[in-house]
Amino acid sequence: MNYGGGWPAVAYTLRKAVEAGGVRKLWRAMRSRNTCKTCAVGMGGQSGGMVNEAGHFPEVCKKSLQAMVADMQAAIPDDFWKRHPVSRLKSLTPRELEQCGRLVAPVRLRKGANNYEPVTWQEALDSIADTLAATPADESFWYFSGRSSNEAGFLLQLFARLYGTNNVNNCSYYCHQASGVGLSSVTGSGTATVVLDDLEKADLVFLIGGNPASNHPRLMRSLMEVRRRGGNVIVVNPIRETGLERFAVPSDPRSLFFGSDIASLFVQPDIGGDLAFLYGVMKRLVEIEAADKAFLNANCTGWEELSGALASMSWDDIIRRSGVARQEIVRVADLYASSDRAIFAWTMGITHHRHGVENVQAIANLALMRGMVGAPGCGLMPIRGHSNVQGVGSVGVTPRLKGAILKNLETQYGLKLPETEGMDTMACMEAAAEGRLSFGFCLGGNLYGSNPDLTFASRALGSLGTMVYVSTTLNTGHAYGTAHDTFILPVLARDEEPQPTTQESMFNFVRMSDGGAARLVGPRSEVEVIGEIASRTLARLALQTGDISWESLRDTAGIRQMIASIVPGFGDMKDIDNTRREFQIDGRTFHAPRFATTDGRARLHVHTPPLREIVDDSLIRMMTIRSEGQFNTVVYEEADAYRGVSTRDVILMHPLDLLRFNLVDGDRVTVRGPAGVLKRIRATAFDRIKAGNAAMYYPEANILVDRTVDPQSRTPAFKDVVVSISTPATASA
Ligand code: SF4
Repeated sequence: MNYGGGWPAVAYTLRKAVEAGGVRKLWRAMRSRNTCKTCAVGMGGQSGGMVNEAGHFPEVCKKSLQAMVADMQAAIPDDFWKRHPVSRLKSLTPRELEQCGRLVAPVRLRKGANNYEPVTWQEALDSIADTLAATPADESFWYFSGRSSNEAGFLLQLFARLYGTNNVNNCSYYCHQASGVGLSSVTGSGTATVVLDDLEKADLVFLIGGNPASNHPRLMRSLMEVRRRGGNVIVVNPIRETGLERFAVPSDPRSLFFGSDIASLFVQPDIGGDLAFLYGVMKRLVEIEAADKAFLNANCTGWEELSGALASMSWDDIIRRSGVARQEIVRVADLYASSDRAIFAWTMGITHHRHGVENVQAIANLALMRGMVGAPGCGLMPIRGHSNVQGVGSVGVTPRLKGAILKNLETQYGLKLPETEGMDTMACMEAAAEGRLSFGFCLGGNLYGSNPDLTFASRALGSLGTMVYVSTTLNTGHAYGTAHDTFILPVLARDEEPQPTTQESMFNFVRMSDGGAARLVGPRSEVEVIGEIASRTLARLALQTGDISWESLRDTAGIRQMIASIVPGFGDMKDIDNTRREFQIDGRTFHAPRFATTDGRARLHVHTPPLREIVDDSLIRMMTIRSEGQFNTVVYEEADAYRGVSTRDVILMHPLDLLRFNLVDGDRVTVRGPAGVLKRIRATAFDRIKAGNAAMYYPEANILVDRTVDPQSRTPAFKDVVVSISTPATASA
């Protein structure tokens, strides 16, 4: 395909409609007043499904359809567990596990058993509470996926702390934590500084280290509109992604029939070369006197240090460390210098690095150098993953509670909460492997699959006494992430919830989902499951819960009242049950250059871009990528339509690198990484990647990735792995 979206997307939609039981059935589900279940761009809610924050309809994409149709599957049959011992579950691909059907009954894998067996809710909830009552609180950890609601997130983190631990973390530690840490160090706030409407005002968008054509498709309409308004889009990515060059927006007839240009400029740095590239653009801005010194002096600190660093950084060094030619950097800077309103957007191509936080800070430097933060149509926009990953973070799902939340909880409810440091996701995994943890609880997600070094991850989770998964469908974690005693508790999907729930988009906009009728008998709501486990455990331990009426928290409206009084910026949540008025969170969007730092000024930072060269010819730098047919660890389609790749057991290499390794397209090779090895991988010619770099699919390739993390964000470097490639012949030589 030489463009994204278009008629193939329309055909795919019809195919999914048939799979879901017909167009009318799928339409009703997609139009229900629930927030889209997939990404954080944000759709739906009270304005009805397929409506975005600007009120535009229809706004729908393949990702939202894939998630919806997956929830519309039939139930996993009763005899499934007898026919599928764990060893057989391990032989299934992520897609095959996802398509086994919906979980409807609690199941348990007892110590020494090979098969999960259905158990009653009574047995499951009592056994879990008994175990918790017998476990020192700090030997437990609580992991949250960004798909859960604000109410479930708030309730479970509250219970974990009342139980006595701060080992509370969420999936963003393995994806966008660098954005939160980086942005907080610049503006004092860890989220996007813009709203969706700002994209409609921008005349330039930088898209760095991401492929929203596949992962956040509705953003393509906004980028198309930027180009239609005569603006520009600069894409920075080692892979020349098809959908980022041209995309046909299916809901726009002109675009559907004739396609739309997206990228004005496409820059391909080497993997990990972004930081040097960004410094090159900054250096050029100084050379052409395009830095807004008045803005910098009035609203920022650190300009003197940064301008000094830029002066001393040589072009040779920048080119060597970025892999980008000087004239390309010059073109980017000159185009940027001619823009009036620029937005900088990025995803994991920026955050999945040892220097992820530095990448984010450098992007902010570049924006601030031309006063592009703190004005309408300008700003910083991390493109987040799961539909409520930002929300669960906002309502307290972090190891250390934000100061205001802790104070409000303790003072308003007469609580004394634990003061222990609390562990992030990687720290919990390492503590489990060392036997310092014995109980794990995962609210959604696939903790195993999203880990680097999968062999280690399986061993670490296998060292736990008890693991509890709360899920809608099966994934690799249920096969490889089992403990001595493992439970899987089936829950309702967002649009099956018996009570309304809320979600927060990447634009800091809080939506309310109405929920709906359960599609299957058996699964329960997340809030109900958490409430049951909590009340049983708190009763067993006779733990004090201050002035909290636990009973009132069985009602999501009751939880919203608590969030409204506890979480800064969420005050409007107190009326949402009556008004149904969704709201923008206060204090996060900057349309004026007064930031949430102690002195209101933004902070500039100085960095030393890393050296990238690999001297050993038998090695190549590899980045893990997501395909068009998946969302995070969930694989819906084997094929990656936009890249023209039909299977997932591949390493994508530029033809020049195939030559360098004496390979031809399709050769079966062994790929060895710092943490593991993958055999019989198909070396695949892919001339859209920059020569000298390679790509493999996440999460399967995570087995190769070691546990090195960015020291500031604690996020693993999934997009920067040096691997060796050998054929049976060269391996034995
Ligand atoms: S872009 Fe994201 S929020 Fe919008 S419909 Fe697609 S998956 Fe849902």
